[in-house]
Amino acid sequence: QVAREHMNIVIAGHVDHGKSTVIGRMLADTNSLPQGKLEQIKERCRRNSKPFEYAFLLDALKDEQSQGITIDSARVFFSSAKREYIIIDAPGHIEFLKNMVTGASRAEAALLVIDAEEGVQENSRRHGYMLSMLGIKQVVVVVNKMDLVDYSEETYKNVKAEYTKFLADIGLEAIFVPVSGMAGDNIVSLSDKMSWYQGATVLESIDGFEKEPPAIDKPFRMPVQDVYKFTQAGDKRRLVVGTIETGQVSVGDELVFYPSGKKSTVKTVERFNVPQKDTAAAGEAIALTLDQQIYVSRGEVAARTSETKPEVTSRLSVNLFWMGRNPMVKGKRYLIKVGTMKEEVELEDVIRVMDGSDLEASETKDKVEHHDVAECVLSTKRAIAFDLAEEIAATGRFVVVDDYEIRGGGIIREGLKDEQVWV
Ligand code: GDP
Repeated sequence: QVAREHMNIVIAGHVDHGKSTVIGRMLADTNSLPQGKLEQIKERCRRNSKPFEYAFLLDALKDEQSQGITIDSARVFFSSAKREYIIIDAPGHIEFLKNMVTGASRAEAALLVIDAEEGVQENSRRHGYMLSMLGIKQVVVVVNKMDLVDYSEETYKNVKAEYTKFLADIGLEAIFVPVSGMAGDNIVSLSDKMSWYQGATVLESIDGFEKEPPAIDKPFRMPVQDVYKFTQAGDKRRLVVGTIETGQVSVGDELVFYPSGKKSTVKTVERFNVPQKDTAAAGEAIALTLDQQIYVSRGEVAARTSETKPEVTSRLSVNLFWMGRNPMVKGKRYLIKVGTMKEEVELEDVIRVMDGSDLEASETKDKVEHHDVAECVLSTKRAIAFDLAEEIAATGRFVVVDDYEIRGGGIIREGLKDEQVWV
């Protein structure tokens, strides 16, 4: 059996706008529920003389951690004909923010639920902001409870116009779908109650989202772990050791090492305890010997001259999650680790900060406190090599070390022009 493609989707929205109902509908209408589960819960409602709600489905599944549908209280599986989805119901959970910013898990898309009757709320804006901070660009805004506004096109258009404008201000675009989670309109099948709506269902919209290409199809990147010297037939040679993060490498490829910019050609690709081949790919730990004996050291990143190169600069625009008890402050030296590179780093500027516990945003703070997510500028003592996280996550992530402990982590959004800020 071939493993099916899967995609992580985070769902957000103001409380009571209908997240659980929409998820319950998706599970039921895609036949992703365990056999008999829907009937069992409907029956339980009948016995207790209370009306059935799709939101109960989710609660019941969470309680039971049932049969592979829920992984834990915040993650639920369902599948479409196209792929499997894991819905992460966790905005505002510190753990979610931490995992996202440090790359421990990645949501590739988001559903943002807005109640058509109540309209855009402060939390709708906070959640949108959170998505932009986390770099999630594939978003469906689910305008829910259309049944409560008589499926009014005008109401939908007003919500859409207001929220579109807000998203544009924070650099996001979204697909909007008018739905009733309760009635199942436009969730998995198109509704005949909104003939004015020409777009796709929620399910079709997320099925249309793109997966990141597999690591092997990206440019070659191998952070250098170690360099060993040895002598072969009287020649001094070097072994360059590392784990390939993305792409592939073959004998005869011309490599460049960054930040030094030194070049050499691959003479052999060596492995430990496996049959020798002339090629290696993402995920493999290898050693390379080179034709021209150049001096490279731990921390450099090997790339191929034939492919796009990593960025090299000492100023980075990043999104950072801070775990330290003491805030990250300007004028103090920390250590940054990117790939196998370690370098001294300072907080140069704080652009905006979001408090992880209530998602409240601020543009006036100049430090990053415990559990904050911040967009900021870091400057390193010497230039380092890296990629943008949205292109190559493995070499676009970093951690910040203070006092020998990891206190923060994040993703690199942009390399900025070098300026001499270190004295
Ligand atoms: P959550 O807090 O975002 O998970 O919201 P729930 O899914 O629990 O829904 C909150 C309330 O709104 C519940 O009483 C639902 O029955 C109700 N609700 C959710 N979706 C709809 C809808 O499409 N139409 C109507 N009329 N009520 C809905």
